[in-house]
Amino acid sequence: MIKSLPPEAYGELNEGITRVLFTAEAIEAKVYALGKQISADYNGRFPLLVGVLNGVVPFMADLLRAITIPVEVDYLAVASYSAETRARGLVRLEKDLDETIKDRHILFVEDMVDTGLTLNYLLQNLRAREPASIEVCTLFNKPRRRLINLPLKYIGFDLPDRFVVGYGLDYRGKYRNLPFLGLLKPEIFNP
Ligand code: 5GP
Repeated sequence: MIKSLPPEAYGELNEGITRVLFTAEAIEAKVYALGKQISADYNGRFPLLVGVLNGVVPFMADLLRAITIPVEVDYLAVASYSAETRARGLVRLEKDLDETIKDRHILFVEDMVDTGLTLNYLLQNLRAREPASIEVCTLFNKPRRRLINLPLKYIGFDLPDRFVVGYGLDYRGKYRNLPFLGLLKPEIFNP
C-alpha cells in the first residue's frame, strides 16, 4: 500500500469536501484488519476474490496486499442503470469473469452495499455457477438503505444514509482518487 498524500494535495477535489468521515489512516487500519481475518478464515482454500469495476479498484488493490495467503482475483463490470431500473432487478453484465468458478471459494469484494439490489443480482448469477462457497466483504455498508437482506460476512464501516465520495466512490466520475471518504459540499452535490 502506498503512503497516502495529505488531503490538501488534492486541490479542487479536496475543496469540494465538506466533511471527512474516514481518514486514509482509518481506512488503512480497517483494510489490514479485514485482510488478517480473511487470511485466517481462507487459509488453505485458495479463494478467488471477485470485484465489480470501477469503484472497487482502490479497495481491492489494498485488500489484496493485506491478505497474506495465496489468492486469485477477477472482475465483473455492470452497466450503470438508474435506481428505478435497478429496483426492478435489472442489472446488465458488461464484462463477465475470466475464471470458471465451479467448486471455487468465492469472496465477493464490494466497495459499498447500499440497497443491495446490484449485489443480490450478482450473487444469484454467481451461485448458479456452483461455486464451493460464496461470501461477501464490503468496505462500506449503508444498513438503513437495504431493500434486500443479504449475508455480509465482512464489513469495514457502517455508514449513515448519506452520499459519500472517495476511495473509489465517485460523483459524476470524479473523486475516486481521494484516499479518504467524505461528504460533498451541498453546492457540488445536487442529485
Ligand atoms: P446498491 O447496493 O444500491 O444496488 O448499489 C450499490 C452501488 O451504488 C455501489 O456499488 C455504488 O456504486 C453506488 N453507491 C451507493 N451509495 C453510494 C454513495 O454514497 N456514493 C457513491 N459514490 N456511490 C454509491
